[in-house]
Amino acid sequence: MSKFSQDRKQHLTAREVAAVKSGVLYEEVKAFLARYHLDPKKSLGQNFLISEEALQDAIDAADISQEDFVLEIGPGPGTLTRRLAVQAGAVAAIELDDKIFNALQKDFRDISNVTILHGNALEINTAQVYREYGCGLRFKIVANIPYYITSALLKHYLSTPFKPQTIVMLMQKEVALQVTNLKNRSLLSLSVQYYGQADIAGFVRRSSFLPVPKVDSAFLRIQIYDRPSLHVNEERFFALARFAFSQSRKTLLNSLAASLSIDKEDLMSILLKADDEYLKIRAGALSLVQWQKLYDIMSEHDSLWK
Ligand code: SAH
Repeated sequence: MSKFSQDRKQHLTAREVAAVKSGVLYEEVKAFLARYHLDPKKSLGQNFLISEEALQDAIDAADISQEDFVLEIGPGPGTLTRRLAVQAGAVAAIELDDKIFNALQKDFRDISNVTILHGNALEINTAQVYREYGCGLRFKIVANIPYYITSALLKHYLSTPFKPQTIVMLMQKEVALQVTNLKNRSLLSLSVQYYGQADIAGFVRRSSFLPVPKVDSAFLRIQIYDRPSLHVNEERFFALARFAFSQSRKTLLNSLAASLSIDKEDLMSILLKADDEYLKIRAGALSLVQWQKLYDIMSEHDSLWK
């Protein structure tokens, strides 16, 4: 691991650097749990990574360097946090669990470039955290989080006015595949692709966690655009998208007719003006170009938005 150059070690004790380098992650997690008398809590989605390779994949995917400030979500035993501390300029890690927070406070007390925050990652004000802990650096998010808050977290961090440049997030494999699917989108994949370029940065088997979860995982990487991929009023666009996906097995025409207060015939004539494709297609199959066109034509009809 030549990446751990001399000057980057200064924040960590020699023992910590040795532990990181030894790669015995399972022991590290076990020792943490034993030291603080903790059991992984199912209710908070606590499945801890015990694969060194997976942690390194996350760091590599986010391309972390000394120029980066990393907000880590759900640090758990702090294994990823410790490795991020070696590579990044500064790290802030937000943990909801009281006991884990207290434990991490102790473990990271002497590490100058790491701050442990106590709270709910869904309520973080990114601009404030950045100003306080990451000013002047590039802003990135790296996270292995409870999977039941995956969409809520993506929504929160993508729609916040102060956005990270890159998000690398571990999630259920099927969700990551869905989000990166360009042929059959969901509302979630459309939202992600509206804000950034998404790809899968690696798969993680269920056996790489303690305790072993029921699903396999994948790292989703989102490189966020300076400007979103469509020229729209965000609020209106996502209202339209929600309507379009409201009955996902139906055609776009039927979904929209069912959720907007408009006659199907009238809607047909509006859509026909744009493209007769719109009459047959399902929302998931629309390309981004087609979304733009759909939004533009629907925007011309103010009465639809009342
Ligand atoms: N990143 C660690 C831990 C993953 S388990 C690892 O890879 O090993 C998920 C962690 O997220 C747990 O520590 C859990 O307590 C924490 N967590 C759960 N909900 C949270 C929330 N809303 N905000 C912040 N942390 C949360």
